[in-house]
Amino acid sequence: MSAHILNGNAIRDQIYAELAGEIAALTSAGIRPGLAAVLVGDNPASKLYVNSKIAACGKLGLASFLLTPSASISTQDLLATIDELNRRDDVDGILVQMPLPRQVDAKKILDAIDPAKDVDGFHPVNVGKLVAGRPNLVPCTPTGVMEILRRGDIPLEGANAVVMGRSDIVGKPMAILLMHANSTVTICHSKTRDLKETVRRADIVVAAMGRAAMVTSDYIRPAATVIDVGQNVVTDSAEAERIFANFPAKLDTFRAKGSILVGDVHPDVANIAGAFTPVPGGVGPLTIAMLMSNTVKAARLRRGVRAPVARASRS
Ligand code: NAP
Repeated sequence: MSAHILNGNAIRDQIYAELAGEIAALTSAGIRPGLAAVLVGDNPASKLYVNSKIAACGKLGLASFLLTPSASISTQDLLATIDELNRRDDVDGILVQMPLPRQVDAKKILDAIDPAKDVDGFHPVNVGKLVAGRPNLVPCTPTGVMEILRRGDIPLEGANAVVMGRSDIVGKPMAILLMHANSTVTICHSKTRDLKETVRRADIVVAAMGRAAMVTSDYIRPAATVIDVGQNVVTDSAEAERIFANFPAKLDTFRAKGSILVGDVHPDVANIAGAFTPVPGGVGPLTIAMLMSNTVKAARLRRGVRAPVARASRS
């Protein structure tokens, strides 16, 4: 394996260390940033995500408030919950864990969040600010990818970047952030023709499709930087054997657990890439770190407190 591993856990720890100073400064000014998480129903994956977010708040000394409406809640009642959170002064950030039950109009809920408290960065006002080059609260996963690239000293200016996936939460904001960093960006999706050839021209590849190990070595130009956003749970043993044929330790993990987390990038790509993010331990830890960062930023902006110098690369 020749590629440089971009270690998301180490970068998360750096960001937490920087945030600790910022949080201490806010605390001494009498401000304790607070995050409200709304977890509707009992989807086990959503519970796991929200619990990790609440645990991160605890670790950093942020206040957290967990609201758990039942799976049968109506759009109207959930809007009332959001309205109350918008009014609370001790709540700086609001996150509504997706997916929501079918009867709830998710767009209406996301649009009802006060843009100043929209720490996921999904509100149209924040999307518009990002596109206009006046970023405020920016979606956490793509911001985390930018932190990995910058702190990993990956040259962005003039680089050919290919973003695989065009979702509102990852692909689109990712492409805009890379463009603002002066990369030349191509966005690919399920209708893209000549996908492999297009990706093979990239200096930087960001894979965010939700397709386990789809990006094989023949997609990658030697020495390219490969960022794997994908998080896919593989439970089929034939698929696991195929993907991890060269990784016996991973196969042992699969056999012990009956499932394994797999990115969108095939693990053999490590042999051809110049730098890459592993799964797990790459982009995942940054998503929560940037949520914490956005919560502190929202607290600061709502109260007109200026950013410390260390914040510059994250603002
Ligand atoms: P999504 O909303 O399902 O979007 C997937 C995108 O990939 C779509 O734009 C789709 O194209 C494109 N796509 C699907 N199959 C393709 C193919 N064969 N070739 C080219 N493009 C293809 O997914 P998402 O929410 O962006 O998430 C993507 C992945 O990132 C998932 O594995 C998710 O679990 C993971 N994720 C990880 C984190 C993290 O913290 N690490 C955070 C968020 C998401 P169309 O638009 O044409 O359908």
